Amino acid sequence: MDPLSGLEDVLPKGRIVTDADEVGRHGGGIFTYHAPRPPDAVVCPQSRDEVAEVLRFANGRGIPVVPFGEGSSLEAHTIPVRGGISLDLGRMDGIVEVRPDDFVARVQPGVTHERLNAELKEHGLLFPVDPGWDAALGGMAGTNASGTNAVRYGVMRDQVLDLEVVLADGTVMRTGGMAMKSSAGYHLTGLFVGSEGTLGVFTELTLRLYPIPEKVLAARAVFPGIEEAGRAAVAMIRSGMQIGRVELVDARTIEAVNAYKNTDYAVAPTLFLEFSGSEAGVEADVSVARAISEAEGSGGFEFEADEAARERLWEARHEAGLAITRLNPDKKPMTTDVCVPISDLPGALAHARETIAEHGFDGAILGHVGDGNYHAVFPVDVGDEGEMGRAEAVSGRIVRYALERGGTCTGEHGIGSGKIGYLEEEHGDSLPLMRGIKRLVDPNGIMNPGKIFAGEEWPASG
Ligand SMILES: Cc1cc2nc3c(=O)[nH]c(=O)nc-3n(C[C@H](O)[C@H](O)[C@H](O)COP(=O)(O)OP(=O)(O)OC[C@H]3O[C@@H](n4cnc5c(N)ncnc54)[C@H](O)[C@@H]3O)c2cc1C
Repeated sequence: MDPLSGLEDVLPKGRIVTDADEVGRHGGGIFTYHAPRPPDAVVCPQSRDEVAEVLRFANGRGIPVVPFGEGSSLEAHTIPVRGGISLDLGRMDGIVEVRPDDFVARVQPGVTHERLNAELKEHGLLFPVDPGWDAALGGMAGTNASGTNAVRYGVMRDQVLDLEVVLADGTVMRTGGMAMKSSAGYHLTGLFVGSEGTLGVFTELTLRLYPIPEKVLAARAVFPGIEEAGRAAVAMIRSGMQIGRVELVDARTIEAVNAYKNTDYAVAPTLFLEFSGSEAGVEADVSVARAISEAEGSGGFEFEADEAARERLWEARHEAGLAITRLNPDKKPMTTDVCVPISDLPGALAHARETIAEHGFDGAILGHVGDGNYHAVFPVDVGDEGEMGRAEAVSGRIVRYALERGGTCTGEHGIGSGKIGYLEEEHGDSLPLMRGIKRLVDPNGIMNPGKIFAGEEWPASG
């Protein structure tokens, strides 16, 4: 008997989507080299209670459930590797409340970060987390996402004050509140943020907001080499200045961006910078950053004078990953995501560049270097075993370099199924506790099985 029969009886009509393209979209990744696997059903709930109904149904039958936001995560997070239900939260896209005086917004999980920011503009407020895809806030909480603004404002985990969560058995609970801080019990919000759909489904998020700064100035600084650019980024952070954004893009990335966005940025290792704050503060920060850059051999700053040029610059940075994939349209991008202690950054960048070249890849390096997080992107032919083996070797060497220095295998993308082995290397000692928490919260193992842990010991098998 079909294990999903009877699902249509617990939901209003129209919630189960059977369109082949949609089913395909829920079984693959936008930007991933991982093998696709379609779900047995795509379900689009429209309320918290409908989410709870689906989970009760699935939990009783041991059917896997994979929460789905925009599907832009990079390590096979939303691929239902053991079949079951892809639970698409996209129809739950209401901005429930904006409280400008409290710097707080309550949103449903399907709202994207760009949409929230468009709404916040009229209040003079912003939500800072900006991955390079217009991802959904539920999915961003799922991976503890960050982006170009993290150096100034922090990551997703720093912005979520409260989550409404539906657990695997349909229980609904809240993890926090509206207060800017709390010492009340265990930090469950921090536990659920970054849980990659393996502990429960977020049906509402309370998020922290910030005032839009009085003055914002963007600039580009070109360097003779990637290490010099990395050293300049580290020195800027060390100077104590309030840098808004500091993003590194290597010459190959600039080449890709120029081709994709029709820009004419100089083809050389470059820092994209943003200074923000008061008029006087920005002026002071710019002169410190300029002196640091010149000491590392930069010829000076190219300022993006108006808002349109500034937006073009950040759009180019956000789409750099896509631009790189366009250079090799027949291949899929493999992306490393290590984060190292900031003083190790220049060495890590040099090591990554040498490793990629040694293995003969047409790779690019870019990253949110203000917090020690960078990506090496190299296109791979997934059908070529030899090439895949070499790519895994490059990725492994870059990760181990970071781990040996106290860094992490993933600064922002998460584990999914792609980095399970690296998680074991990084956190072998605390994995038993993580597994224990998973077993306690989701004893039948229905929530996104096969992610974060291999999880063979759990019963849900689809
Ligand atoms: C071009 C490109 C650039 C990117 N740049 C960045 C970047 O700069 N920084 C960065 O951090 N990431 C980046 N990413 C990765 C991706 O955008 C992030 O991982 C993002 O957080 C995923 O959001 P999503 O809405 O697409 O979530 P999905 O991919 O749909 O889901 C992500 C995870 O969260 C879970 N999940 C989804 N919704 C919920 C929910 N309501 N409740 C519980 N769990 C849920 C899913 O099961 C999954 O495990 C980039 C991706 C692309 C394609």
